[in-house]
Order: sequence, then C-alpha cells, then structure tokens
Amino acid sequence: MSSLLEVRNLKKYFFLGKGAGKEQNGVVRAVDGISFTVKKCETLGLVGESGCGKSSAGRVILRLLTATAGEILYEGQNIEQLSHRELLPYRRKMQIIFQDQSGSLNPHLTIGNALGEPLRVHRLIYRKEELKAKVEHLLELVGLSPDQMCRYPHELSGGQRQRVALARALALNPQLIVCDEPVSALDVSIQAQIINLLKELQQKCGLTYIFIAHDLRVVKHISDRIAVMYLGKIVELSSKESLYARAKHPYTQALLASIPRLTPSVRRQPLIFSGEPPNPLNPPAGCHFHTRCPYAFARCAWEEPLLQAVDFDHSAACHLLDR
Ligand code: SF4
Repeated sequence: MSSLLEVRNLKKYFFLGKGAGKEQNGVVRAVDGISFTVKKCETLGLVGESGCGKSSAGRVILRLLTATAGEILYEGQNIEQLSHRELLPYRRKMQIIFQDQSGSLNPHLTIGNALGEPLRVHRLIYRKEELKAKVEHLLELVGLSPDQMCRYPHELSGGQRQRVALARALALNPQLIVCDEPVSALDVSIQAQIINLLKELQQKCGLTYIFIAHDLRVVKHISDRIAVMYLGKIVELSSKESLYARAKHPYTQALLASIPRLTPSVRRQPLIFSGEPPNPLNPPAGCHFHTRCPYAFARCAWEEPLLQAVDFDHSAACHLLDR
C-alpha cells in the first residue's frame, strides 16, 4: 500500500496572553513535532488523554487550523503551503466527523437538506431529482431509511445522528476521514455498531481513517497502526498487533493496563501513574512523562527521549530502551 498522507515534524503552538506571538507570555505546544504516514485504506489510531494534542493534530492535518511548522504531504503534495483556492480540491478529499454530532448538524435543517448542502456548495449536483436520489443513497449507505430525510437532528438518537454525520462526510466522495472521538458519547452497544459501519464503509468506499480516541479500548477494533500521544508528542508508534502484545513505553503500558478484561495473553500487572497530566503551559523538562512514570530515573528529568525503532513497524521514545 502506498502512502496517502505523510506528516513531517508537524507543530501547532497556541500563543497566549498579551502580545500574542511572544513565547514569554505563555505558549501551549499542543502538537510538538509529530511525524507519521498513513497508507491508503489504512486506519491510524491516534490515542492519548484529553489535552495531549490529538484533536489539534487532526484539525491541522485538515488545515482547519494553521500549522506552526512542519509539512503535510497529501499524495506527495505539501498542502500546508497551498492557498485557499488551491486547497479546495483537497477539502473534498478530506473530511472530519466529530464526537458531538449536534454541533456539526444544523438543528434548523432537515437531514435531507443537511446532506444536500455540501453537494450544492461544491456545485456537484444541480437537479432536484438527482439530489434527492443521492441523499437517499447516502442514507442507505450508512444504514438509515430514506424516510429519515424529512426529520430534524433532534428527532434522531445519538447513534442515528452519528450515521447522518458520516453520510454528510461521504457526500463528497472523500478519501480520508478524520474521526475525532466519533463514538465517545455513545452507549457501548451503539459504539460497536458505528465502528462496524466504519469498517464496512472502509471496505466498500476505499476509505482511509485517522481515528482519534482517548483510550486504547476503542481503537483496538478499527486501527491497523496506532500512535500514542502524550503532551504534544508521539511516545509510541506501532502496528496494532505489536502494540497490544509488546508495548514498550510505560505510558502505553499504563493505558493498556487500564482496559478492563484484557485477554490473559496481554494481561499484566496494572501500572499506576499518579495524578493528572502536567500543565501544558509548563511541561516537565526531559521526558514529559517523568513526573508520573513509575520507572523514571535521573536521565529522564533532563534529556528528552527520541522515538527509536524497537521492531519492524514499532518505535517508542523511552530511555529504558537504552538500558
Ligand atoms: Fe519513564 Fe524515563 Fe521512559 Fe520517560 S524516559 S517513560 S520517565 S523511563
């Protein structure tokens, strides 16, 4: 499989306080030099606690936020440098679905109008009958009856609204969809249905996903590879199989240990890391995780560990790998 997307040393900093743009007034390094590739028809899981930068990374990749530095190569083209006009064809190819569908669906538009809107805006369909047929097709694609097109978002369940959000994302025949915590607000049984639908659509439509989640339970069922983020950095990047069987970074191990009812082959002593993540305005020096890591030693407090290969398609950033 060839790469659809390559992210190189991507950074997104938010400058705070008076005289924005000056670091001394406070800067949050939400995304701090991450690099990865996503192959066509692959799913990359992007995982970490709230505030680790995973959602900012998703938005920067889609150019909904401007990068502070780095490159975003889409089919080899650096889209970070494209003008608004040059970016338009790429906007159709890259879509996003959010956790909170009520925020992305206009409460005053019927489902039919919400699905027809992107087709009209991008001037892909003009004739009314053709538009109706396309909307019906989109609803069927996500497992909803065409009868739903006359209803409003508040008349649907959370799972149905997420299906509509997905249908809306599919309207422009995208290649890449960033799924930003798409099932976090849903009941577990509905979560499984949406994940199965995403997998089905990936097969049917040849989709590539970046699937953002705050724990490793949800991404397990859909990801081919997984990047674990902590305070703006990727601390472990691996194929799913290798990560769940042989996680190397203590943070990943702790996230895995927090998943209830793991299979015996991967069950391990729960690792307890204490407290909340540090203030992103003032992250710890050295390894950002050292204030919570049960294995931290002197070097961790002053030297930042870099990602290093530990196996085929598996890398981690931890000084323990050198011991
Ligand atoms: Fe823990 Fe040190 Fe590894 Fe960081 S580098 S995860 S503090 S052992």
